[in-house]
Amino acid sequence: MSHLSDPGQIKAVLSRHGFHFSKALGQNFLINSGVCPRMAQECGAQDCAGVIEVGPGIGVLTWELSQVAKKVVAIELDQRLFPVLEETLAGRDNVKIVPGDVMKLDLRQLIQEEFGGGPVCVCANLPYYITSPVILRLLEEDLPLSAITVMVQKEAAQRLCAPPGTRECGAVSVAVHYRSAPKMLFQVGRGSFLPPPNVDSAVIRLDLLKEPPVAVRDEEWFFKVSRAAFAQRRKTAANSVSATLGLPKPQVEQALLSAGAAANVRAERLTLDQLAALSNGLL
Ligand code: SAM
Repeated sequence: MSHLSDPGQIKAVLSRHGFHFSKALGQNFLINSGVCPRMAQECGAQDCAGVIEVGPGIGVLTWELSQVAKKVVAIELDQRLFPVLEETLAGRDNVKIVPGDVMKLDLRQLIQEEFGGGPVCVCANLPYYITSPVILRLLEEDLPLSAITVMVQKEAAQRLCAPPGTRECGAVSVAVHYRSAPKMLFQVGRGSFLPPPNVDSAVIRLDLLKEPPVAVRDEEWFFKVSRAAFAQRRKTAANSVSATLGLPKPQVEQALLSAGAAANVRAERLTLDQLAALSNGLL
């Protein structure tokens, strides 16, 4: 185990480098020494070509991942952390820090160049402000991934794992269940972070499926329609889809009826089968 989860050690390293936490970048660093070894053990690193980490911070999870993975590529946006990481990960020869924004980098090319095409695992304590966009991006782009293990806000974890057709489900849960088998691994209290956030967290693992569980004729359109259905949650799915995608409401209602749903159904009541049929029907 590294000593990077010790609060005294973290404060000392950060003050040596004159570093101050950025709330805007979701910087809550882990100080619970049990969490990172467990994430590294349970993310499937041993069974894939390597691991991509999003936001290494000072490298506490990166260090643990480097113990179990062939190679770790960690994407970090905050350049103030690069000298810190150089110090904390000195000697970890299988780690590469890639500067950049995870939302902008060409991940397919990165996997090709760094891992010979994969498949790779993703393991990260995600910055909370981009939890959903990052997960959506990883799933919608159909990248060569075998598993995604992420720490997110506890409520977000519950939403992501909620199957379509249940109250907590949202557009991201649809993508999650279309591409993967999600599993709640364990919960992490707010006191495990420096500085402590206002919410508790949970670690989830998404095991990518070889084939989607439903037949979709155009995936890009399916994700668009799913997002449109949930875009205005207070409205019916027909109103939300027709307003968001600019389609005539009767056409959407007809597609809902053909999908076996009521014309006035709300998005959270639609099953994955019905969402697939709806998007196929609107093509
Ligand atoms: N992995 C560390 C840990 O567990 O202690 C830090 C996790 S902290 C919640 C999130 C990290 O993501 C920070 O290091 C932050 O600078 C970085 N980050 C924020 N936005 C990012 C982005 N768009 N792309 C890449 N990294 C980002």
